[in-house]
Amino acid sequence: MQTRQSNHGLNFDKYSNFEQDIDPKQRAWIEINGKALEKNVRQLKSKLNKDCQFMAVVKADGYGHDAKVVSKFAIKGGASQLGVATLKEGIKLRSAGVKKPILILGNIYTKRDLIISFKNDLMPTISSLRECLICNNIGKYFGLKFCLHLKVDTGMSRLGFEPNKFVQQFEKIKSFENISIKGIYSHLSSADEDNSLDPKSSTQQQRFKFQELLKQINVHRNHNIKIHLANSAGMLLNKDFHFHMVRVGLSMYGYSPLAKIDKNLSLKPALFLKVKVAFIRIIDQGVSVSYGGKFVSSRKTKLAVLNIGYADGVSRNLSGKINVIHNNKLYPQVGSITMDQMMVDITGSSEIEIGSTMVLLGSDGDKTISPLDWARASNTIPWEILCSFKNRLPKVQVD
Ligand SMILES: *Cc1c(COP(=O)(O)O)cnc(C)c1O
Repeated sequence: MQTRQSNHGLNFDKYSNFEQDIDPKQRAWIEINGKALEKNVRQLKSKLNKDCQFMAVVKADGYGHDAKVVSKFAIKGGASQLGVATLKEGIKLRSAGVKKPILILGNIYTKRDLIISFKNDLMPTISSLRECLICNNIGKYFGLKFCLHLKVDTGMSRLGFEPNKFVQQFEKIKSFENISIKGIYSHLSSADEDNSLDPKSSTQQQRFKFQELLKQINVHRNHNIKIHLANSAGMLLNKDFHFHMVRVGLSMYGYSPLAKIDKNLSLKPALFLKVKVAFIRIIDQGVSVSYGGKFVSSRKTKLAVLNIGYADGVSRNLSGKINVIHNNKLYPQVGSITMDQMMVDITGSSEIEIGSTMVLLGSDGDKTISPLDWARASNTIPWEILCSFKNRLPKVQVD
């Protein structure tokens, strides 16, 4: 006969085999602070003139934060438009019930994709007469006007009309009856560099070029056309870059792209990366840790094994170069970061246990670790750090 053993107070029958029974904080996870986002947007918006609009850039799933959540709180904070990179990102927001104007910042160029964009009320970025013609034909077919933004290249050499030909081509575009030009824009290549306020800098040169083109097409007489140039760095430089709208990503998420930080600005990171301690062990002096044995203990060492690795988006290039926070104390990560786990030296701590939560990105007490720190340590930029997190990390909203 089967006998049931003591269950130590656990309800063995409560848990099923469903994935959703797993606690999202079971292993490693991202916490999104919507209120922090909302406040960042409100604060940044207060730097703009009253009639200057704020486009929240939520491409790459809101820089890894969750585009739906970011859009919701950015709109609460005063964003009146959204920017995405792809058709799919735009459709996802429409399906989530987002009603604000959405601009696709990447290029879509096939008739099929442009029709889908039109049907989802998404504005494409147009860089050629050919794309303009397709949009006009689509508008004509439906007996409506296709809303879009024109882009001119002023120094990125990425998307945008060739500046030398733009004035002439614009004359033709103006005659297209089934498109509605909602914006004309360009994109800065180097606004985060220290010399950006110097008139000879490439950033100022781009602005002059853009303004010269706008003067030539006499666009200021048309108030329906929004002129925009600035990303986060451009927006933070000064008002000369604001025009009718700014397109803000990084700083809305809580990080300034400029080395010289405006003292009146207190941006708060909206993303925390946390992990549970999966195991604790003590190793003797002279013992190697992780693949390749690149770290060897110089003394008797207490190690915590954390449930996160490069398959979650923590680059292996960060091995041995980052710290982790617990209870206002920093602990160094040691040995190679592995696919699913990493080790941390917690020698001297008696408060960290199996199941304790540690902070990889974000703050705890007065200690903060920022994507800017990780970027410096792995020779990249904070933008790349933020959008490198993988789907394996659940996102938990905290407000
Ligand atoms: C990504 C992007 C932005 C936002 O840039 P941040 O530096 O993150 O503010 C603005 N405009 C365009 C065209 C972009 O691709």
